[in-house]
Amino acid sequence: MKPKFSLNLGKPFGIRVSVHWTFSLLIVWIVFISLNRGLEFNQILMHLFFVLTLFACVVLHEFGHSLTAIKLGGKVQSITLLPIGGIANITEMPEDPKDEFWVSAAGPLVNVVIAGLLWLYLSLTPAPSFDEIEYGTITAGNFPILLMTANLFIVAFNLIPAFPLDGGRLFRSILSMNMSRLKATRIAKDIGQVFAFLFIFAGLFFNPFLVIIGFFVLLGAKAEYEMMTYKEILDNYTVGDLVKTDYEVLDENKTLAEAAEKLTHIYNRGFVVTSGGEYAGLLTKNDLIKGLNTHGKEGIVKDVMSRDIEPYSPGMKLFDAYKNMHKNRQDIVPVMDSREFKGIIDLESINEFFLIKKALK
Ligand SMILES: [Zn+2]
Repeated sequence: MKPKFSLNLGKPFGIRVSVHWTFSLLIVWIVFISLNRGLEFNQILMHLFFVLTLFACVVLHEFGHSLTAIKLGGKVQSITLLPIGGIANITEMPEDPKDEFWVSAAGPLVNVVIAGLLWLYLSLTPAPSFDEIEYGTITAGNFPILLMTANLFIVAFNLIPAFPLDGGRLFRSILSMNMSRLKATRIAKDIGQVFAFLFIFAGLFFNPFLVIIGFFVLLGAKAEYEMMTYKEILDNYTVGDLVKTDYEVLDENKTLAEAAEKLTHIYNRGFVVTSGGEYAGLLTKNDLIKGLNTHGKEGIVKDVMSRDIEPYSPGMKLFDAYKNMHKNRQDIVPVMDSREFKGIIDLESINEFFLIKKALK
């Protein structure tokens, strides 16, 4: 799925790199602050150039994570740049603690290498005069040393054990060498949330970006831990264990009015649409509402139904189904064994199933 409102930069190594629209706010903010400080046009350009170069280092950092993950058997879909940094969307992560350690460490290590190269460059060129090291304004003279400092700052910041930032992941991977991954995640999450509150508190006084990062850590830690609890339970079951066979069937030539009428009297998560008695697609509630808005009551089911939902096989792990449906915002998905239609699987049932199993534990 393409992230909404983002600009594609390219697809090196099969990983789509894009810039989120909020990045433009960062540019506006920098220009605003520079103008406020009375900087000249050339100096503002220099500041922007510095920020873009720094974000190029952030992209390399994310490639450090991504390429290591791929090398260790993971899958990476995309890298997105946000004003607060980059996010590598690693869709399949190696779970071995040692692998996770290296995937997490590879990002900061890239910045160590960049800083090292800049240090080498600086040590081979004449030292800049004191005026040039003045930190307030970026000049051609102090550019390399500031870039080196900024890279070292990225390393230091990322080593804070604030899960799900890199340091927190490193911490979890070390913990999970000696305990279950779920327990390790819980400890990492708790510590991550403490740091999140510190970031938010400190950010209120010093830097608004720190507040955003704080919330990102707070919500990210919670979401990842929740996902882990789902995984712990759902990994023991398959799609076949929860496939629903008491679905409502609708012929593709029925009107939307008929579909809507049926919905008022039964509990329904979406219709299975047939064509000549054979499975043809699904009519989700969203399809129906959208269809009624665009085609009216006399609209025909086959014109608004979802035809190309990729079916799941009964042998698929229930957690993988849950994760995919969540990510793709699907309520129901058809289940097929090779070409044979077996029924549907729906997100709400998986959620209920999880809650019941969790309560029983
Ligand atoms: Zn990182």
